[in-house]
Amino acid sequence: MRKFYVVGNLKMNMLSREEAAQYLSVLNREVHDKQYQHVTLVVCPSFLYLSQFDDLPEGIAKGAQNLFSEKSGAYTGEISPVMLKNDGVEYVIVGHSERRRYAGETNEMIRGKALSAIRNHLTPIVCIGETKEERHAEETDSVLMLQVKTLFSGFSKSQAENVIVAYEPRWAIGTDVVPTTGEILGVRVLLRKLFTEIFDARTAQRMTILYGGSVKRSFLPAVSWEAGMDGVLVGRESLFPHELVKMMNLFEEEAEKE
Ligand code: PEP
Repeated sequence: MRKFYVVGNLKMNMLSREEAAQYLSVLNREVHDKQYQHVTLVVCPSFLYLSQFDDLPEGIAKGAQNLFSEKSGAYTGEISPVMLKNDGVEYVIVGHSERRRYAGETNEMIRGKALSAIRNHLTPIVCIGETKEERHAEETDSVLMLQVKTLFSGFSKSQAENVIVAYEPRWAIGTDVVPTTGEILGVRVLLRKLFTEIFDARTAQRMTILYGGSVKRSFLPAVSWEAGMDGVLVGRESLFPHELVKMMNLFEEEAEKE
């Protein structure tokens, strides 16, 4: 059965509990009693509001935007994977380019976070992608190869199958510039080839790969199923819950056709 994902990264938005509650009420109203069999929406609010996202409608899961690799201890300001799990979180974004940029996260650190998420029964959504400069220097493939090899080093096949990979070209995030369907498809082919080399064809086939970067509903097909992707990671548009639900509906319709 074809399965798609829509991941909404709400980032450091919604500045009060009231705003979070308002967001949730629109999300609930839009989903109403629709049944989704082929698509999961993962909503990732700020840590502060996670407990408000407990009773989500069917087909919607709770995600976090980051975690720390250790379970507990003297790590001021960090959030443990166990805390997240105990709070009902199922998915966690790791290695978002904004974490790489503002918090200095490296591929090695992100690898540790992804492994820690898996060991604590969370699904990591691992972000990879090249910068504008790397793209112009035609280094996209080599950058992605290095990221994948470092991030997945030492992973077992079953651990790899539990990872969702989000290909997010950094030049496409927040810019309203998106790669062509052909470019995304090219990356999908490259990633499947890399995962086949590192693991095997069966594992590579079972891994979920998303596209992220300036996603809007109007060109959803072009950056997702037409490009061989299993869904999308959405930034700004995820601040509009009705848009997320419309994207879910489009994925559901597409999966039913297949
Ligand atoms: C993101 O930050 O992961 C993202 C995809 O943002 P946007 O959709 O706003 O480009």
